[in-house]
Amino acid sequence: MRRRSRHDRPVVVITGASSGIGRATALKLARRGAALVLTARRGAALEELARACETVGAPCEVVVGDVSEFAHVQEITRRALDRFGRIDVWVNNAGVLMFGRLDRCPPESYRRVIDVNLLGTMHGAHNALEVFKRQGRGVLINVSSLLGAFASRYASAYVASKHAVEGFAGALRQETVDLPDVYVCNILPAAVDTPILEHAANYLGRSVTPAGYPLAAADDVAEAVVGCIERPQPTIVVGRVGRFQQLAQKVAPTAHDRLIAKGTGAALRRADQVPTTDGNLFTPLGETTPVAGGWKARRRARRRGAAAVMIGSAAAVVTARRARRRRDGA
Ligand code: NDP
Repeated sequence: MRRRSRHDRPVVVITGASSGIGRATALKLARRGAALVLTARRGAALEELARACETVGAPCEVVVGDVSEFAHVQEITRRALDRFGRIDVWVNNAGVLMFGRLDRCPPESYRRVIDVNLLGTMHGAHNALEVFKRQGRGVLINVSSLLGAFASRYASAYVASKHAVEGFAGALRQETVDLPDVYVCNILPAAVDTPILEHAANYLGRSVTPAGYPLAAADDVAEAVVGCIERPQPTIVVGRVGRFQQLAQKVAPTAHDRLIAKGTGAALRRADQVPTTDGNLFTPLGETTPVAGGWKARRRARRRGAAAVMIGSAAAVVTARRARRRRDGA
């Protein structure tokens, strides 16, 4: 990370810093000498994280609140500028996840997913770009999702919010085309081992687990954030299987969609029954805020899952190519 002098630490705002990817990113950037502005709704978790970051020498400002409220995001900006005088990097990471068939999901719940994932990102970008334009430099990083590049059954609101974040970032890149030192980067993680599944709203009545799906670590996404800060690029996909799936979706979208739909449907039929829950959509859940969700411990299952997803995606590509050849030959 570029640092102009010992007293000149990069100033980084991280939303959704209280657990998972946000927490991992804060800890990594703290060790690399950043000054941090940490924000989320769980104040005690943020204070504990700030103490851990300060232990390795990173000054931290904690701002508690909800990114779907524009006034809160303005407050983040005001506090960052009052304390550190500028903002070099803004990481829009706060997000919520919701599972359910659309017609069984409460409208206020899917509205909330859009409010947090899309409007929260827009609020962050609005404030960050205002500052970056004044400074003539800055890096905006949106932690989007691979589900911004294709879809998944039973996660329609989340998929919609992340597709919107992709389009939004594309438009911002055009808006900033004349500002050579202002960058808009999107990180698209595949599945990551964080507490997001514990936090997710679930109106399916069945438990959702990553089962055999291969998982990246929160630290891999944190490393991608550092990579974007050092060498900004428009899009980074995190997770080997994710890159494979992205390719399958480009080459054979219909077959890949069918593969995901069938796989998700089969997993759901085998899943345990659980009560429905709003998860952390409206109220944050608990004060335990780990980086990991604990799923990666099942290494063997993960390897089998990686192979299954890659074989399935490859089969989708081959099937689509054969169908195209038959069509072209006909
Ligand atoms: P977590 O649930 O662990 O983290 C989500 C963070 O967002 C928490 O810090 C939470 O804190 C915060 N948050 C939620 N709602 C709000 C809100 N209204 N205002 C402010 N902060 C809020 O999950 P992850 O770390 O996995 O998720 C981080 C990002 O990564 C999300 O954008 C997610 O969509 C994305 N992602 C995750 C993947 C995964 O498999 N884990 C895959 C692809 C993308 P608090 O409750 O204290 O407010």
